[in-house]
Amino acid sequence: MDKLIFVSGGVLSGLGKGVAASSLGALLEARGLNVRMVKCDPYINVDAGTMSPYQHGEVYVTDDGAETDLDLGNYARFTRSPLSRASSMTTGQIYKEVINKEREGRFLGRCVQVIPHITDEIKSRIQGIAREDADVDVVIVEIGGTVGDIESIPFLEAARQLIHEYGRVNAISVHLTLVPAVAGGELKTKPTQHSVKAMQEMGIQPDILICRAPVMLDEATRRKIALFTNVECDSVFSSYDVNTTIYEIPLIFHAQKLDQVVLKKMGVESRHANLSPWVSMMEKFRSRRGKVRIGIVGKYMELHDAYKSVYEALFHAGMGNEVEVELVKVDSSRLEDALEPDAALGAGGGAVHGILVPGGFGQRGINGMVKAAAWARLNKVPYFGICLGMQVMVIEWGRNVLGWEDADSSEFDEDTRHPVISLLAEQVNVKDYGGTMRLGASRTVAGEGSRITAAYGSAEIWERHRHRYEFSNKYRDDMTKSGLKLAAFTPDGGLVECTEWPDHPWGVGVQFHPEFKSKPTLASPLFQDFIAAAKERMLSAGETL
Ligand code: GLN
Repeated sequence: MDKLIFVSGGVLSGLGKGVAASSLGALLEARGLNVRMVKCDPYINVDAGTMSPYQHGEVYVTDDGAETDLDLGNYARFTRSPLSRASSMTTGQIYKEVINKEREGRFLGRCVQVIPHITDEIKSRIQGIAREDADVDVVIVEIGGTVGDIESIPFLEAARQLIHEYGRVNAISVHLTLVPAVAGGELKTKPTQHSVKAMQEMGIQPDILICRAPVMLDEATRRKIALFTNVECDSVFSSYDVNTTIYEIPLIFHAQKLDQVVLKKMGVESRHANLSPWVSMMEKFRSRRGKVRIGIVGKYMELHDAYKSVYEALFHAGMGNEVEVELVKVDSSRLEDALEPDAALGAGGGAVHGILVPGGFGQRGINGMVKAAAWARLNKVPYFGICLGMQVMVIEWGRNVLGWEDADSSEFDEDTRHPVISLLAEQVNVKDYGGTMRLGASRTVAGEGSRITAAYGSAEIWERHRHRYEFSNKYRDDMTKSGLKLAAFTPDGGLVECTEWPDHPWGVGVQFHPEFKSKPTLASPLFQDFIAAAKERMLSAGETL
């Protein structure tokens, strides 16, 4: 029988439930199990695609084009679990599905209710994942929100029913709580006691507690928690503050025997844990020497989560190149007027060794990004443009090399005489916002002798997309004749997927999002190559390792 693990959280949001669930996934994989990860989000939005990055952080895109919560990015970075539309469910999706069925008359006149109809829909989706592949051993279901929230009740109720139906050997509850330290450093267990009580009121007895605390919990504190919560003392774990990286957490949990205890509770025979990829990743982390500074020029700068996968991918590539990556975050709208690139990115701003312009939507800050791109091109600073960042590269070339002052994307100026970036043909009649962009993985074919082919070590590339606008084909001739290299295309040649600067150490823009597939144990090839170029610039500037 498939096994289910429900991961819930209490006391506070933001305790790192996603990282804890992913780390557990990584450990079970290290023990040879085939794991699937699922996220339940209590919000009413059908998906994260229509949410502002400021509200909710980045939108993570799966191969099949689902626009999901950023926690799926954690799953992708820590585990091998294939992720798809089915890996993420929201209250909005569940209700939409149930209401559609009701309109179709599928409930045969019955009154449609939260229990059992909403909970049945949740349960059938979770079980669907477990059954989709005969080889699945464990499904880890992360329940968003905090126990006690009104919104997450149907998901917890579905979990309660499944634990009851599967039996506690086949379905367990892992609950994450906070153990704060008060003045003097004394650890306080009361919030954890209350949080577990709230779970018990929902009819769920947690089997395992993971306690977020500033330090490793001592034996006496663990005993006290165990006594008050009906959880065995050896099942109380510490997720203490680490000053290394979140990617050490699987090893930290393993050292406390989390995987061993989970396997025992689920009646799975213990097998050898192969943690060597994580151990060698930490060796690389520790052998980093020197610092490359990367300027991030974007519009959602205040919230780190808004470009989460980009920052993680830079960090991965830093480990891959055994160098630290320092982020110099520059709000592009500041570059539009008062601030000059020299001051923000050059000697005045810490002299960055590379610039990355990430994805984004809307006009604000675009001219600042164009300035940053011009600065990188002329000063031969490595430049990496992702999606909007590639479009910016094309606009900059149009304005400054071809001399078309009004070169723009029709997203920002519908009336420009030089729409070098224009709406994808398939988007012309699209009116709805949710899930209607060019989304998901598709094949890109890169040209010989290009940077991108060298970086991937192959001309065949599979990456994910999320955009409405594209390089405008009617400018192909002008752009190529003036030297801009069109380095990769869709297989039919219809869409430009990559632009590269000539005579430049590293100027690459891609229409897709390589950050989504980067892992700490294996950085995305383009990020890896970009940081290698930035490192070279750092060394040639005379900075030592
Ligand atoms: N706004 C641009 C488009 O829709 C870029 C999108 C992005 O960067 N993800 O094409």
